[in-house]
Amino acid sequence: MNDKLNQSVTAIKGIGEETAQMLAEMNIFTVNDLFEHFPYRYEDYRLRDLAEVKHEERVTVEGKVHSEPSLVYYGRKKSKLTIRLLVNRYLIQVIFFNQPYLKNKIAINDTITITGKWDQHRQTITASSIQMGPYSKTKEFEPVYAVKGKITVKGFRRFMNLAFSQFGEYIHETLPLSLLKKYKLMNRRDAFKMMHFPLTSEDVKQARRRFVYEEFLYFQLKMQALRKFERENSIGVIQKYDLKKVKQFISSLPFSLTKAQKRVTNEILSDMKSPFRMNRLLQGDVGSGKTAVATIALFACVTAGFQGALMVPTEILAEQHAESITRLLEPFGIRCELLTSAIKGKRRREILQLLQAGEIDVLIGTHALIQDEVHFHKLGLVITDEQHRFGVEQRRILREKGENPDVLFMTATPIPRTLAITVFGEMDVSVINEMPAGRKTIETYWAKHEMLDRILAFMEKELSKGRQAYVICPLIEESEKLDVQNAIDVYNQLTGYFQGRYRVGLMHGRLHSEEKEAVMKAFSKNEVHILVSTTVIEVGVNVPNATVMVIYDAERFGLAQLHQLRGRVGRGSEQSYCILLADPKTEVGKERMRIMTETNDGFVLSEKDLELRGPGDFFGKKQSGLPEFKVADMVHDYRALETARNDAARLIQMKEFWEFPEYACLRNHLYQSGALSGEKLD
Ligand code: ADP
Ligand code: MG
Repeated sequence: MNDKLNQSVTAIKGIGEETAQMLAEMNIFTVNDLFEHFPYRYEDYRLRDLAEVKHEERVTVEGKVHSEPSLVYYGRKKSKLTIRLLVNRYLIQVIFFNQPYLKNKIAINDTITITGKWDQHRQTITASSIQMGPYSKTKEFEPVYAVKGKITVKGFRRFMNLAFSQFGEYIHETLPLSLLKKYKLMNRRDAFKMMHFPLTSEDVKQARRRFVYEEFLYFQLKMQALRKFERENSIGVIQKYDLKKVKQFISSLPFSLTKAQKRVTNEILSDMKSPFRMNRLLQGDVGSGKTAVATIALFACVTAGFQGALMVPTEILAEQHAESITRLLEPFGIRCELLTSAIKGKRRREILQLLQAGEIDVLIGTHALIQDEVHFHKLGLVITDEQHRFGVEQRRILREKGENPDVLFMTATPIPRTLAITVFGEMDVSVINEMPAGRKTIETYWAKHEMLDRILAFMEKELSKGRQAYVICPLIEESEKLDVQNAIDVYNQLTGYFQGRYRVGLMHGRLHSEEKEAVMKAFSKNEVHILVSTTVIEVGVNVPNATVMVIYDAERFGLAQLHQLRGRVGRGSEQSYCILLADPKTEVGKERMRIMTETNDGFVLSEKDLELRGPGDFFGKKQSGLPEFKVADMVHDYRALETARNDAARLIQMKEFWEFPEYACLRNHLYQSGALSGEKLD
């Protein structure tokens, strides 16, 4: 595509084999790679007033040396030189690491100019560069690059200079002119130039803006193209449901739908009616009414002459859902059945037979639903609850059970929108962002561990009213064994404390499923009053009489997870409480506890969590699936992400996009990215 820039860096005059090898260590092989190695920050040489500089910001100041430099060695090559500097009326400290020779160059009453990072608490600048004498304006900005081995930042700047003067003119535009104009974006060549040789901070800002948009647009084009082709090439089922009956069913519900429920129901129904296969994610907070929407979809599916399936992660949950859904659908002559691994022998054979014969309309169960022996007669719709608990493989098997059934994934883990449109960019997303009216909000408190006595007293008060409590145990990452031990310790402690008054149950991942089942049953029948558990409790349990949730070491959990845990209470008509026991050490940790006490909105929390912990930590280490961007930042540049997504969706639908030369650069990129396999290059 761009032969000049795809040459090896040795094509640059002044860069030989040896340098090329060192650059290769930094994954820079071609001229283009070099151009795309962007600075990770800029040294700002503008003189600033310290009063306006924030903690940890970089700053350049001029001042008068106020004390003899003092030099301390530690280790063989490490040293720290400290001076006191009078900057205007501030007396601050300046530290130079590993530059012992400066001791003889700096004397009392000298005027010097230094640049470095400001520590407001210690009134100290850790200097990264020094200029003897007063401030003289040279360059406002200089790029700082991540470098490796023998390559220095200065050296790297020089390579960039050489590369630019020789190859700068070959940098081609890769965005259509119409988009550049629309958003007043810099052209690509100028943008590279301003990233590497900026004069002002505005230069950097504008150059960055261009690359952010470009990266997001390319990424979103790929996702939107995948989505379009997945839809159009899939042979879905057209479900001609009976709208009149569906409306009747909706009005038979014991409540009227919220606006959000109506909206997502319409989105789902129109997918079902279409010839494309539905591939939709339904997000909504715990209790927002997802299951109600799912039930309507299942009803519609049956009126269209198809079978529906609902798959959930645990047996307890399957039972609960089967019970409530059957209650709603049965009056309409719809036959629902439950299938879990606990259902065996004759009963199981009977269900399988009826299912294959098409006598069962809706099947509800755990992943027992996707075993080989389960055959549907005419499967039209598959709904999975708590989507993130199912592996990709399981979802694939399920999809293949019927003739391309429509698939709806439901999740109560609110995923911030920026992540949803990135990670699930090829799926359609529906969001229930509204709670049914009249819900009591759960009161959340943050307490230090030393207040445990008071918390136990509070629990006792609730228990005496006939209520129940959950106690979630400390989480120790990567060690289920320690988690279990923690749960056992807390269990023993509480058993001792409530001895003879209330019964305590214990739940953790090492129990057999029958044991878990037994504990859960006892708790839901109020035979056990306090349930001590590890986080295995998280998914779906419904015990409306439980009104207290105590979470030990709450600072160790993500906000999304805390919110999930909190969602176990507040399910009945009584006021519920969530108590976070935490002694966070960091500001971020304290901030997270505060946010928990301030909001009950899962989406607000998930956005905050993303901000505080970053996209990598949001999904946990294992399954992030996040794309890597060179310049763009999903969290801070979310507006550009939204814009790029809308543009990508619009472009993909335009006839001109597939034909006009103006869009050739975007099309080529799509073909190269593999999103459009088997299509010709142009
Ligand atoms: P989710 O599956 O999102 O956790 P559910 O569908 O189970 O939520 O709904 C939680 C509770 O709220 C259920 O008892 C359900 O009957 C009730 N519910 C659902 N939608 C509404 C509504 N629009 N108005 C009042 N109550 C509702
Ligand atoms: Mg369809």
